Amino acid sequence: MKKYKLICRSCGYELTSDGYRCPQCGGILRTVYELSDRERLRKAILDAKSFWDYIDFFPVEEGTEIISLGEGNTPLTEASILADRLGIKKLLLKNEGCNPSGTFKDRCMSISFTKARELHAKGVVIGSAGNAGAAAAAYGARSGLPCNVMLPSDSLDTRKALIQHYGARLIPVEGSVTDCIDLISEVYEEFGWHNVTTAAAYNPFQADAEKAIAYEMAKAMDLKVPDWIIVPIGGGGILTGIYQGYKDLLELGLIDHLPRMIGAQEAGCAPLVNAFREGRDPKDIERVKDPHGVAAAIADAFPLDGETALRAIYESKGLAETAEDQEILEAQSELGRYEGIFAETASAATVAVLKKLLKDGRISPEESVACIISGNGVKELPMLAEGMSFPPSVKNDVDALRSRLSSES
Ligand SMILES: *Cc1c(COP(=O)(O)O)cnc(C)c1O
Ligand SMILES: [Zn+2]
Repeated sequence: MKKYKLICRSCGYELTSDGYRCPQCGGILRTVYELSDRERLRKAILDAKSFWDYIDFFPVEEGTEIISLGEGNTPLTEASILADRLGIKKLLLKNEGCNPSGTFKDRCMSISFTKARELHAKGVVIGSAGNAGAAAAAYGARSGLPCNVMLPSDSLDTRKALIQHYGARLIPVEGSVTDCIDLISEVYEEFGWHNVTTAAAYNPFQADAEKAIAYEMAKAMDLKVPDWIIVPIGGGGILTGIYQGYKDLLELGLIDHLPRMIGAQEAGCAPLVNAFREGRDPKDIERVKDPHGVAAAIADAFPLDGETALRAIYESKGLAETAEDQEILEAQSELGRYEGIFAETASAATVAVLKKLLKDGRISPEESVACIISGNGVKELPMLAEGMSFPPSVKNDVDALRSRLSSES
């Protein structure tokens, strides 16, 4: 028996072989796993030491050649200094910045490229704000599959450089990420590419990658669950995946309740938060017209996995909130200063939202919170340097040095 089924979310059709979309109605596919062999699967989770040790929960055939760069298994650190400053008892940071190309997208691409190879792809294409593109480029290099990356032309040069560094073909597009993804759907079949865009609508296989974040966190916490998990939302895939991971753990009896999920967005691009505030149905999220703000990695005008993410938020009695640019930059700085973590702005949005929710009492100081630090700030280093001023240099002279050291600054 196959360990997973691909089922259409719209019409319920069950696929008999792997595919990217429903052959009946074109609907979005989801994977459903057979978890009845509880003892074996519990043991598989508890014994796992690396990302691919969770293969029972990934849509990949046994025996497939795995395309890996050592993704996953990232640290979960207790941020005690920052917690003290914010006035909360327990704050945990899951540092996905430690992945090979600096974001959790490496998990998605490891599965995507493994699957693309299994399905005999000749090449792949992706639409991305830069992070999934960089991850795809790296795994493209690792797998030997030609990789085409489309990203908004106004993306930072550091993001473009990284993609090109890994040898992928870079195609800057005069538009948003959402526009890139729309364009790809018009051409990928014509060119025989597999679409590895990190949204279930285009690539249902990568959607299980983030479940492992939940498995790793639960194990690092001796199978306890934080009261809240704050996740940045771009497309909504990572929040959906982490929540599904916790649901698997609950179904297998490894934990006894689910965490409450919080989606964090940038004030200049908050389609999911807008829908949450108005209490809308998850199907009725509206595209934002003029996405803007500092956190480029989550500037999705329309969250392609927003429906499942908002459903997870409602179901877990969670929340969704925004942060302004200034609040995000301040949180980014605090993560560096007090915890030694260089978070991308998109990831710092989680801490900015936490501060807001503590202030207005929606989170209590007695509760435990885990923030998902989804990416490493290094790709935004030029932006960080631009916003700083540095002290003047001292003469190469010990008296000059003494005088500087005894002065205030
Ligand atoms: C992609 C990305 C996100 C958002 O993930 P989604 O699955 O699109 O919601 C958040 N942070 C970083 C650093 C990312 O690269
Ligand atoms: Zn269908």
